[in-house]
Amino acid sequence: MVLESKETTVAYRCPECGTAVYGFAGKFALHAGLVRLKCSCGGSALDLSTTRDKKLRVSVPCLYCRQNHNFTVSDGIFFGRDLFLLNCPYSGMDVGFIGKREQVDEAVKKSGEELAGLLQNLGVDGVREIQPQDMEEDEILPDPTAYDCIRFLMRDLEEEGRIDCPCHIGSGYDLRFIPGGIEIYCPECGATHPFRVDSSSSAESYLDTDSILLT
Ligand SMILES: [Zn+2]
Ligand SMILES: [Zn+2]
Ligand SMILES: [Zn+2]
Repeated sequence: MVLESKETTVAYRCPECGTAVYGFAGKFALHAGLVRLKCSCGGSALDLSTTRDKKLRVSVPCLYCRQNHNFTVSDGIFFGRDLFLLNCPYSGMDVGFIGKREQVDEAVKKSGEELAGLLQNLGVDGVREIQPQDMEEDEILPDPTAYDCIRFLMRDLEEEGRIDCPCHIGSGYDLRFIPGGIEIYCPECGATHPFRVDSSSSAESYLDTDSILLT
């Protein structure tokens, strides 16, 4: 009898020193508690933990934002896929790599090339120059779940005709991150409405909003 190997390769690129950090996560270790994958420079760590509904929570250091992004991945995807990429919601770049060693290696290599290309296009020498520096508390970008939450609210209100702005387009509003939160804006007249978001729980509290007037 051949036992299916329940071990997967996890990798990310350290925001502090730029090294690709690799680790293995086995099913048994994971179900026993938190698994932490640390860069040897001590500047960053990827955390894996299991949620109450037996999914895996991955907290990946992001090279572009210098903060961790959280993802929830099912057991089947985590251990079953050849390659699963975790994307920075702000830059759109791949920051976390999960899967078989060979595929992960290839994806990490490709992302390194993308990064080099990006830096070259911007005419900068290192990733340091595009990272946010010494962020103040209110400059830290909100969790992507907060974005989903506000987007849900916006679509819901739009459908019921309960968002308005000076040009009264009524739909087609968009979202963007602002320091300390997220704002809805009108692409036509430029009117905005901000939401302060410090954690996903505070974004959820906006879900009872009845109507929004952009100014
Ligand atoms: Zn490092
Ligand atoms: Zn990011
Ligand atoms: Zn408008």
